[in-house]
Amino acid sequence: MKKVYLDNAATTFCSNEVLNEMMPAFNAIYGNPNSLHSFGRDAAALIDHARDRVAKAIDAHSNEIYFTSGGSEANNWAIKGVAYANKHKGKHIITSKIEHDSVLESCKALESEGFEVTYLNVDENGLVSLADVIHYIKKDTILISIMAVNNEVGTIQNIKAIAKTAHENGIVFHTDAVQAIGAVKIDVEDMEIDLMSMSAHKLYGPKGCGALYIKNGIKCADLLDGGTQERKRRAGTHNVPAIAGFGRAIETATRDVIVNQQKIKTIRDYFVKQIQEKIAYTRVNGHQYQKVQGIVNIGFEMVDSEALLMMLDLEGIAVSTGSACTSGVAEKSHVLKAMRVPEEYLKGSIRFSFGKNISKEDIDYTIEKLVEIVGKLRSISPVTKTGRAK
Ligand SMILES: *Cc1c(COP(=O)(O)O)cnc(C)c1O
Repeated sequence: MKKVYLDNAATTFCSNEVLNEMMPAFNAIYGNPNSLHSFGRDAAALIDHARDRVAKAIDAHSNEIYFTSGGSEANNWAIKGVAYANKHKGKHIITSKIEHDSVLESCKALESEGFEVTYLNVDENGLVSLADVIHYIKKDTILISIMAVNNEVGTIQNIKAIAKTAHENGIVFHTDAVQAIGAVKIDVEDMEIDLMSMSAHKLYGPKGCGALYIKNGIKCADLLDGGTQERKRRAGTHNVPAIAGFGRAIETATRDVIVNQQKIKTIRDYFVKQIQEKIAYTRVNGHQYQKVQGIVNIGFEMVDSEALLMMLDLEGIAVSTGSACTSGVAEKSHVLKAMRVPEEYLKGSIRFSFGKNISKEDIDYTIEKLVEIVGKLRSISPVTKTGRAK
């Protein structure tokens, strides 16, 4: 059966050049980077090299990069760390309703500890408004955390303007840039970012590895105790192969941003056009143009997204509903709800996320199956176009 992977916002394959970078660190260079002998030093050299690469990719200094187990840990660290380190100044945090769960749940955890969190609304395109940010800033606001790119609809936030506003008010600014790196140019200096979360497995690197950028001078408490790793700030023996791979992956991803985005845009435009021509009652959720090319969220009226996902899966096509479905009970996406996507589309929204290896054949096959399956689902749908039960 043909297989088409359109879930690159969930994770990407690990590229060959990244694998090649990782392999020696499994056996040839297997020392513990914390050891004082030559085996340790050799492994530490791999970490140093990777750290330089990550720093260079985002225009940071190497000593501002802290390796973590991924984006979720980086988000937890940034938000809880800044909150704990600044609680004497204030206990108010501003974020948005469309953040990744690792941001939202970190904020929830802080609320139970006496912090106050404002979750900003977004407009129907998924954009946080700067006026809103300004409106909700209080004397005791210590942190603003707004994601650079949303993982469900791909909307790019006005990070630089929000960061500037934060600084004019003496507030620390964090951004979750997991979906942004490799899709848009990120320069922490130019964009005035204080802390930034990154992950390797969204940019053709290995899973279980990422980093937090903490600008020198920014106060952020540490969460993991018990080791001298990461300049005594993040205990635990380094995942040397993954870190080496991450260094290579981010270097390549940032170097190839424009080429990859252009290629993906061409295919994406073709895909959307085909859907609009061949399937009635659809809607593209998200911003028209202030978005990354690789994420398209489409609502299909009179279709249940879970059913669509499963039937596409039977044809070898992998997509996502964007909603959390860990318990087996599908929750509607918090992002699409915050964007006030109309109810009739909310139930049938699917995220298609394209990777750099996508081909026209993949898209043609997907369109063919989509037309079939959507037709089938609509023919048995209890709902008619007017929204009334049949
Ligand atoms: C995937 C993702 C994360 C989590 O990163 P992990 O490395 O999987 O923990 C955080 N934020 C966004 C926007 C993501 O897409």
